[in-house]
Amino acid sequence: MSDCIFCKIAAKEIPSSLVYEDDVCVAFKDLEPQAPVHVLVIPKKHVESVLALTENDKALVSHILVDVIPKLAKSLGVAEKGFRVVANTGAEGGQSVKHLHFHLLGGRSMQWPPG
Ligand code: 5GP
Ligand code: ZN
Repeated sequence: MSDCIFCKIAAKEIPSSLVYEDDVCVAFKDLEPQAPVHVLVIPKKHVESVLALTENDKALVSHILVDVIPKLAKSLGVAEKGFRVVANTGAEGGQSVKHLHFHLLGGRSMQWPPG
């Protein structure tokens, strides 16, 4: 999508601190980190949110959650102590960028309930 900031990051049209890339997704450091480790994992394909996912996206989501995020958590050093994966969805979910993204947060104790 031409006016989507995360599509532009995935296409490297705007810079980011990339920590991982493959054919399906990219991971990069959040501009305003909320924890010592705060990475966003996004599909290269534009999908607006969890709500916009379809049957055709099952492999994409599975790849991100099964293959990529656990490996990233290990390589970023947060797997052993624990981490949080968040997909804010819609206005009350706190989604500010309308391109599906999974926050991977770690390096400190997380609070519950979230704000
Ligand atoms: P949301 O609020 O939609 O769940 O998360 C969007 C996240 O994207 C926020 O944590 C915000 O800091 C991050 N973000 C917004 N614009 C940029 C950007 O241009 N570059 C990077 N690296 N992160 C961004
Ligand atoms: Zn996009």
